Amino acid sequence: MMDLLLENQNIIRVSIFITVLFVMALWEIKLPRKSLTQPKWYRWLNNMSLVVVNGLLLPIALPFLAVSTAIVAQEKHIGLFNLINMNAVLTGVISLILLDVIIYWQHRVFHKVPLLWRLHRVHHTDQDIDVTTGSRFHFIEIWLSMLVKMIMILTFGISPIAVLLFEILLNASAMFNHSNIQISSNIDNKLRKIIVTPDMHRVHHSIYRNETDSNYGFCLSVWDRWFNSYISQPKDGHQSMKIGIDLFRHLKEQSLIKMLTQPFRKQ
Ligand SMILES: [Zn+2]
Repeated sequence: MMDLLLENQNIIRVSIFITVLFVMALWEIKLPRKSLTQPKWYRWLNNMSLVVVNGLLLPIALPFLAVSTAIVAQEKHIGLFNLINMNAVLTGVISLILLDVIIYWQHRVFHKVPLLWRLHRVHHTDQDIDVTTGSRFHFIEIWLSMLVKMIMILTFGISPIAVLLFEILLNASAMFNHSNIQISSNIDNKLRKIIVTPDMHRVHHSIYRNETDSNYGFCLSVWDRWFNSYISQPKDGHQSMKIGIDLFRHLKEQSLIKMLTQPFRKQ
């Protein structure tokens, strides 16, 4: 069963990506949270083109990706969980939590270190936030993120199946919490006790720097509360709040080439 999952991981990843994209896109049309400020088709075309470019570049830059690293670590008994005898389900759950908290801190570091912020701000210069924003990252940020994950896998001996599950979960939750969907405040309040909701993450895309530097979590919402980076609602409200950062606000900055070259250009 596990082998079957790992052998077909690319089909599984792409199918889940397309399904979540489709569901969120329909939800955004039926029940949008906020009106968009730039032409949707243009942002979608360019954000999705960036996803394709990233998907093509990643295996070229790093032919040995996270799941393969976990398989080798398991075979060669590298990393904590591969050295001790512990229940596989328990180590799996601990692994998912560990990876999630590392992604939280990695995200914080990308906001604080100026060179890394140059890469990460490609994600923040989207002038609207919707399901496609969740996959809009510069390819170098994706490479660095992959390296961090590999270090975690080798240190803790995270199993291949836990890595695959986490990557699918992270991708799906990023699409969910970036989507421009309406969820009643009652349900939102219950959901955000455990997971990051769209209303919670939208604060992170506010034009105000103190709001941008908050709500870093991707899956579990607990890290922002524990590590003091939680802001519950945007100052200007979800309808009126301005999305993005002060730089690169022109529509032409949303083109694929401009996004790829943005980290290397003057502000
Ligand atoms: Zn960010």
